[in-house]
Amino acid sequence: AYFERIEEAEEKVDAFITLTKEDALKSAKKTDEKISRGEKLGAIEGIPVAIKDNIVTKGIKTTCASKILENFIPPYNATVVDKIKNEGGIIIGKTNMDEFAMGSSTENSRFKNTKNPYDLSRVPGGSSGGSAAAVASLEAPLALGSETGGSVRQPASFCGVVGIKPTYGLVSRYGLIAFASSLDQIGTLGRNVEDCAFMLNVISGYDDKDSTSVNMVKKDYMKYLSEDIKGMKIALPKEYFGEGVDKNISERIRESARAFEKLGATIEEVSLPYTQYALPCYYLIATSEASSNLARFDGIRYGYRAKDYSDINELYINTRSQGFGEEVKRRIMLGTYSLSSGYYDAYYKKAQKVRGLLKKDFDKIFEKYDLILSPTSPTLPFRIGERSDDPVSMYMADVLTVSVNLTGCCAISVPCGYIENLPVGLQLIGNRFNEEKILRAAYAFE
Ligand code: GLN
Repeated sequence: AYFERIEEAEEKVDAFITLTKEDALKSAKKTDEKISRGEKLGAIEGIPVAIKDNIVTKGIKTTCASKILENFIPPYNATVVDKIKNEGGIIIGKTNMDEFAMGSSTENSRFKNTKNPYDLSRVPGGSSGGSAAAVASLEAPLALGSETGGSVRQPASFCGVVGIKPTYGLVSRYGLIAFASSLDQIGTLGRNVEDCAFMLNVISGYDDKDSTSVNMVKKDYMKYLSEDIKGMKIALPKEYFGEGVDKNISERIRESARAFEKLGATIEEVSLPYTQYALPCYYLIATSEASSNLARFDGIRYGYRAKDYSDINELYINTRSQGFGEEVKRRIMLGTYSLSSGYYDAYYKKAQKVRGLLKKDFDKIFEKYDLILSPTSPTLPFRIGERSDDPVSMYMADVLTVSVNLTGCCAISVPCGYIENLPVGLQLIGNRFNEEKILRAAYAFE
């Protein structure tokens, strides 16, 4: 049924880079057999899942939407993919994204533009735009995306679906092709909070293959959903409603805050004074780490290799010049610059200090409040092409999401209605490893 739907919707939406129909149908058959034999079923037995194309899948092309990995077939599965398969989930395909997850509109894909299912002339957000669009257009009930600075929440908001960015360390990054390792985290996208909580149960947990994975008792997130939110304290940071944020969106979120009050929560305005430095801090750290992580794509070990070269240097240069797109090259250059001697202290080191201050800002709020409430995106989904020539205006799309990645916190984006027939997303931020709180509040609100 899902492949029938995909056939119908893909023509317009273009959410997938690769479809794995044959394998998926084989897995579905296995589930059928299990059912008829009365065997024990996995937690997500028979449920189709779409996977962002920067999460490696054994024997299935994993491109990062880049020419440099255009024909790359990984020899192993990411831990999250193994977990899904072990619980009976069925991988139906790999979704489109901004190249190496760098972008906010999925327009940086080497292969195609994914369209926003609510208005095909608009972007689905990014970088997990394919995953969000696939869920929104009913091509998949569940999808995985990745977050470095908002890439699950912002497309969830643009496409009217739910998206979770888990606490750094909750979900294994093994097999997630690295963009900025201290920020990257795999997240879930679904049609509602319950589906996302369910998926988080499947993919979370300690993994000794990821040295940043945290070893702690696994929680069952479904258990917390139906608890009420009476007495919950929610902070509304004034910086998240200020300049650059669409007034109609701000108003919609304030209305939603009143809905939380009706559910028994208390709402108070607070200040997160370092917010204004979050975006520059993010773009320094993310580009620095990216410049280092992407050094492995050299045309020698795997992936694309340029045809013409006369020595090893030319091989590197031609391969990387031809293999990477504009935005990826821009970031490698920015990152290399800020890590270079003489500039390191002024840029990278300073950004790390600012990151520490941001974390203190958040810690202070979480001493008094359970959650932070804000818009997910400062604007409604913009038109395809509207920002693609202006990187800084594209970077502004992340202004309300990057702090969560810089501080390692968890957050969720939940739909909260429409403006001009376009979906609006509300963001709930929780302290590290407080997923149950954001899920509980989002579920009560939904
Ligand atoms: N849009 C942000 C960027 O371009 C975030 C990307 C992400 O979260 N992967 O860096």
